[in-house]
Amino acid sequence: MIKPNPLVMIPGPTPIARSVMEQLGRETISYNDLRFSVEFKGLIEDMKSLWRCEDGMVFIAGGSGTMAMEMGISNTASRGERVLVCSNGFFGDRYVNICERKGFDLDVIRAEWGKTVTTEEIEAHLAKRPSSVVVVTHVETSTGVEFPLREAASMIRAGHPDTLLVVDGVASVGGAEFYMDWGIDIMLTCSQKCLGAPPGLGAVWASPRAIQKRESMPTIAESYVDFVQWIPVMKDTMKYWGTPAVNMVWALREGVRLIKEEGIPERDRRHRLYAEAVRRAMGALGFKHKAPIELASPTVTVFLYPDEGIDDAAFRAAVYDEGAQIAPCQGQFLGKGFRIGHMGNITPSTIVSLIAAVERGCVRQGIKIELGSALAEAQRVLTGV
Ligand code: PMP
Repeated sequence: MIKPNPLVMIPGPTPIARSVMEQLGRETISYNDLRFSVEFKGLIEDMKSLWRCEDGMVFIAGGSGTMAMEMGISNTASRGERVLVCSNGFFGDRYVNICERKGFDLDVIRAEWGKTVTTEEIEAHLAKRPSSVVVVTHVETSTGVEFPLREAASMIRAGHPDTLLVVDGVASVGGAEFYMDWGIDIMLTCSQKCLGAPPGLGAVWASPRAIQKRESMPTIAESYVDFVQWIPVMKDTMKYWGTPAVNMVWALREGVRLIKEEGIPERDRRHRLYAEAVRRAMGALGFKHKAPIELASPTVTVFLYPDEGIDDAAFRAAVYDEGAQIAPCQGQFLGKGFRIGHMGNITPSTIVSLIAAVERGCVRQGIKIELGSALAEAQRVLTGV
């Protein structure tokens, strides 16, 4: 039997468009060939204008999302400064861990997994303990919860104008709508999620205030991720700091071109529609989504098994064999459910194939379902009838 690769329905990497893959296959040229330099510059300019960061800067460097997290905080807070990290899951806790190593005067507000730290909690905390930086996770991939970013950003800008807002947007940028002019100082992501390129690049947007902050800081301990090292390159792509990942820059450029063509509001709408289709479909099979509906992420959903009777690894393996890869849960949800990434350059056909594979996986595992019930729910959402 023909065995094509399964659909990659995990929260990154995501299915890659053919035109993006073609960029990876181009013959590699020098990073300081003028032809590459012009294309790299074009990518930087597009990333600035699409997410309204015209007066700030964008940094693109080889590495994963964790590198971008490190870059974001290393350039905005110094040892001894007060930093508040809001965590509601695995990746929020990763940011706590990164910050613990840096000798900050660290405050942490934690929300129960499946919930979010609220704007009111942040406001109350800052009133008592003003912080140089507040760190949040836009979409917490381990729970599928979306943070109320716009509301919190405007509260911080209005009430605490000296506080910088650092946002982990790894699971949201290119899927959920946001703009730097909402009052965001650092937004960070990486190539393999909603930007629709393979893994390999980190990206960090920095507001003018964030750049000024770095410029006011003494030499920082980190070298590779130091804005000061990269600023000359991001302003003039003929300059050198660390060798740019030439083919990956081309791939990301095509990924960003696709986003520009679709438009950010439309991309947000499409992701939310697919999220709803997946939620309704899984609901028909008895899988409950963890995030409350008002906090449900447009890009990734966490589903919990209805009872202890389902063998997590065997279930996901059956779905894999039926043609779709879904992800295990993380941390305290490990073994109790699965995660579906519905992000990036996918179509209604991708969603329908995914759901059909999950239905067949259920049948193979002896999970009692009505075949077609999940598909019908998804089709209703996708067609609006
Ligand atoms: N933050 C979030 C919200 C993520 O989802 C991830 C990756 N799943 C990361 C950070 C870390 O990114 P990476 O694995 O590329 O280092």
